[in-house]
Parts: sequence; C-alpha cells; structure tokens
Amino acid sequence: MQIIRTKDELNALQDELKSNRQDVGFVPTMGALHQGHISLLKKCRQECAVSVVSIFVNPLQFNNKEDLQKYPNTLSEDIELLTENGCDYLFLPDVSLIYPDDYQPIVVSIDHLNHQMEGKYRPGHFEGVVKVVYRLFELIQPQKAYFGTKDFQQLAVITHMVKSLSLPIEIVPCETIREEDGLAMSSRNMRLSSAQKKEATFIYQVLIKGRALASSLTPEETRNELVALFEESQLELEYLEIVDSETLSPLDQTWLPKSRVCIAAYCGDIRLIDNFQLVG
Ligand code: AMP
Repeated sequence: MQIIRTKDELNALQDELKSNRQDVGFVPTMGALHQGHISLLKKCRQECAVSVVSIFVNPLQFNNKEDLQKYPNTLSEDIELLTENGCDYLFLPDVSLIYPDDYQPIVVSIDHLNHQMEGKYRPGHFEGVVKVVYRLFELIQPQKAYFGTKDFQQLAVITHMVKSLSLPIEIVPCETIREEDGLAMSSRNMRLSSAQKKEATFIYQVLIKGRALASSLTPEETRNELVALFEESQLELEYLEIVDSETLSPLDQTWLPKSRVCIAAYCGDIRLIDNFQLVG
C-alpha cells in the first residue's frame, strides 16, 4: 500500500490512474478503523480496479471540541489493517491540503435533510461533512465512493449532494457491520468500558423490537413504545425517530417502504448512533 500525503504525490497518482484508465473506488474515513470500515474497503476492491482509503479527522464536522480532542487515533494499527486487507492507496492529508488558505468551500442546500436528528442535535455537522467529502472527491476523483448505512443521514446528505451537483460519482451504500451481540461497530466503541459495551447493546435490542412492533402498530405508536423502553435503561436517549428513508421526514400514521428507525443515545459521555429498516 502506498501512502499519499502531499499534493505532488496526489498529482502523480492522478496522472498514473488517468493513463491506465482504471476505475477508482474511494472509502473516506476518520481512522480508528474496524471491521465496518474494512467491509467498505472489501466491497470497493470487489468493484473497482484501484482502492483509495482516506483518513482525515475533519475539524469542521465536530460541533463539540471535546469530541474532536478525544477522537481515537490509531494510525499504525490502521495502516496495518489496510495493508492486510489489500488497500492500494491510503490518502493521509493534513488540514492545509484539504483547506488551503484560498480555498472556497462548496455550498449545497441540505436544509430539508438537516433540520432533524443528527442535523438538529449537531448543528453545523453536515455542513462540515459536505465540505470535506466534496473536497475529498475533488482531490481523489473516484468513480465510486463507499459509505455505511450506519450513518444513515450522512448517506442521504451525500447522495443528495452528488445528485444536486451532478457529480459523476456513484455512491454505494454498505450495510452496518455489528459485533456478535448486535452493537454496531464504531470508532467510538473503543472508549466504552466492557460494562458500557454490554449496556450499549440495548440500542440493538430496541431496533429489533421496533421491527417486531412495526407489523402491528403505526409508526407513531411504535415510536412511543420504543422511547418508553429507554426509561428502564442506563442509556440516555437523545432522539428516536421513525422516518422515511429518502426524505428523512418523520412518519406518523402510515408506514412507507423501507421506513427506518434512527437512534442517538449516550452511554456515559459517549454518543452512539444506530438505525434499522423496520418494514420492507
Ligand atoms: P467514520 O470513520 O466513522 O467517518 O466512518 C467512515 C465510513 O465507515 C462511513 O461511511 C461510515 O458510515 C462507515 N462505517 C462506520 N461504522 C460502520 C459499520 N459498523 N459498518 C459499516 N460501515 C461503517
């Protein structure tokens, strides 16, 4: 695996890829890699001749400074994991390459996808995500880019960005990889104690329960039942919403195809998110 850190190295790679006309698949990450990230890389390698993974912790998408400071950094393990899993290129830019002084970030209207859930509780988060992903796309110029449904609202925002700017990039959604007990893999799980890891599986149990309730209750009734479950839990619920999978609008009386439940909850001071399709 080759590590690309500078603009010159990136330009040399672009020249090489263009002359060979190979399909480039791209997996953007913030590092602290786990098998969820690796599943994206595996899919990318199946579908594309060349795989590029980036590790960049984007300061713009952290509305909470402490969260940014505490974000885990495991670069040497990440490099090992990517090498073992056949990644061709690791793009490891510093902030000045992503945001040079004269850089004018792209502005895309995402309001309709941004007033609820993550957008509501993490103001500025998706504006930061759009800026960094657009910039990474501009630098890497992939044909395909791989994103996890674990971050369901992020996937919707990126899909909307690509569509509204008519970017020639296919966004490939990838399913959530879980621990055996159902806990969705996340870089933030590294900060959970083993007792907290057990408590956090409660989120998965709620998601499963949601699917069972959805067959007999309305979305509103399902939501009320699921929210009530958190009263008995150690976790502190931030939001639990049942939404349409495309518009992310809350559902009330009627299920729509692929309706999802999305949850954010705190386990101690660690914020976890997860989601699940409730109906076919
Ligand atoms: P992050 O490093 O958290 O920004 O995540 C980078 C990419 O990996 C995003 O597209 C995430 O949705 C995806 N991802 C994170 N966790 C998982 C998981 N458990 N399963 C599948 N994809 C994931």
